[in-house]
Amino acid sequence: MSENILKMEGISKSFPGVKALHNVDFVLRKGEIHALMGENGAGKSTLIKIITGVYQKDAGQIILDGRPVLFKSPQDAQNKGIGTVFQEIALCPNLTVAENMFIGRSQNPFVQWKQMNAKAAQMLSSLGIPASPTQELSSCSIAVQQMIAIARAVDMDCKILILDEPTSSLDEDEVKKLFELMRELKGRGVGIIFITHFIDQVYEISDRITVLRNGELIGEYQTAALPQIELISKMMGKALSDVSKIKKQEPLKSDSSVPVFEAMTLSSAAGVRPFNFTIQKGEVNGFAGLLGSGRSESVRAIFAADKVTGGEVKMKGKRVKIKTPLNAMKQGIGYLPEDRKGDGIIAELSVRDNIILALQVMKGFFRPLSRKQAEEFSNQYIEKLSIKTPSIDTPIKSLSGGNQQKVILARWLLTHPMFLILDEPTRGIDVGTKVEIQKLVLGLAEEGMSLTFISSEIDEMLRTCSRMIVIKDREIVGELSGMNLTEHDVMQAIAQGGERICQG
Ligand code: ADP
Ligand code: MG
Repeated sequence: MSENILKMEGISKSFPGVKALHNVDFVLRKGEIHALMGENGAGKSTLIKIITGVYQKDAGQIILDGRPVLFKSPQDAQNKGIGTVFQEIALCPNLTVAENMFIGRSQNPFVQWKQMNAKAAQMLSSLGIPASPTQELSSCSIAVQQMIAIARAVDMDCKILILDEPTSSLDEDEVKKLFELMRELKGRGVGIIFITHFIDQVYEISDRITVLRNGELIGEYQTAALPQIELISKMMGKALSDVSKIKKQEPLKSDSSVPVFEAMTLSSAAGVRPFNFTIQKGEVNGFAGLLGSGRSESVRAIFAADKVTGGEVKMKGKRVKIKTPLNAMKQGIGYLPEDRKGDGIIAELSVRDNIILALQVMKGFFRPLSRKQAEEFSNQYIEKLSIKTPSIDTPIKSLSGGNQQKVILARWLLTHPMFLILDEPTRGIDVGTKVEIQKLVLGLAEEGMSLTFISSEIDEMLRTCSRMIVIKDREIVGELSGMNLTEHDVMQAIAQGGERICQG
């Protein structure tokens, strides 16, 4: 069974300023489950949107069942046999299961209820979906709703089924059921494109894997022939042999001193598994994992940037309540978010106002810093971090990315945190500034600050962190420490999980 149903050749797609896809080939066979892999921003969704007629390609061709096609709209793609189930299920919760399966598709304005329910019942049982045709959709679990969305696509005679992160909100049992359904459809000859952040699921269910990175095709592989570590290295774009030398602090001896910050079975509404975390005075540690593995969600739980749903935290051994970012700030925790543009800078405000923001929030807006103080503080940090700006009154939006990032760092340093969390602080900034920030991190640790540093660039973490917490599929699976760690060690830990490695 190696008949190609879909062949995409030389697909390119640009958005203003971004090449989302560049000359990408993709082949889907009849009756296969094909995982489309890549870190965030790799171009997966763009490719899917081209297949489903949401976007038009700039170049390349699409061959469906041996014939060149053009998908003019999602409706057009659907008519040609492409079914899509997105993460958010686009069904009507107040209608019955059967109505959801057939609605909007009956030529006859007078729906034949009996017939419809009978047909639904037959489909549900043949696909093994545990639902009754007449129950209201909203009374079904998310997993079952998703299966019904799939059943709907199947009934529309889809030859290709696209599942974009269908499992992110499902529990283990539900995933098992979904996989059974996928296997059933595969047996019927449907070609399935499966997108997920869960690496283990890819290995459980897929036949082949296509890897994208930065809009380019990296390769197409038989799942069984591609070790997890190689998949990860391909997604990240790091050669397995790419070993880097590091100059960082010695790992702290597991001393008896009380940690600066400690979390026990912490969990958040963003869906991280309950985790434990500690950091010592003057320690730099980091979360290593793929984009989407739960790195950001973990630190956001620590800072209460997402709603905390369980667990407890201690600062210097004392139990404290951190329910909001302001609580966290008052306890001496700072957090530089991943999304600089969205959560970080206030574009219209001046460099000065951006620098004093966190301190001002902590003091309360009824006690504004004096103009003189604000100026002093700003100038002090502009000098300390060599921020390049025409003046302190310049709107931050007119600074380069690297200088914007330094302004936000200044904002947090000004609050004199004991524990500072930096999530991707060097992303998208020039190499020189990157190195400056890395040095700054090590310098701050030397002065006694505790820092958690997250970066997608493993070599950067190796250079700064003396301990790495390995996270995979939203769960902490191990820890690495030592002076001689290599990228290979880290990738291996991400691939295997569950290992506690210490290399002296
Ligand atoms: P993935 O799904 O693999 O995370 P996407 O296909 O969503 O990646 O994005 C690929 C690149 O294209 C990213 O740099 C993203 O910012 C950009 N991009 C995607 N959609 C749009 C859009 N509608 N407008 C502008 N840029 C976009
Ligand atoms: Mg996407």
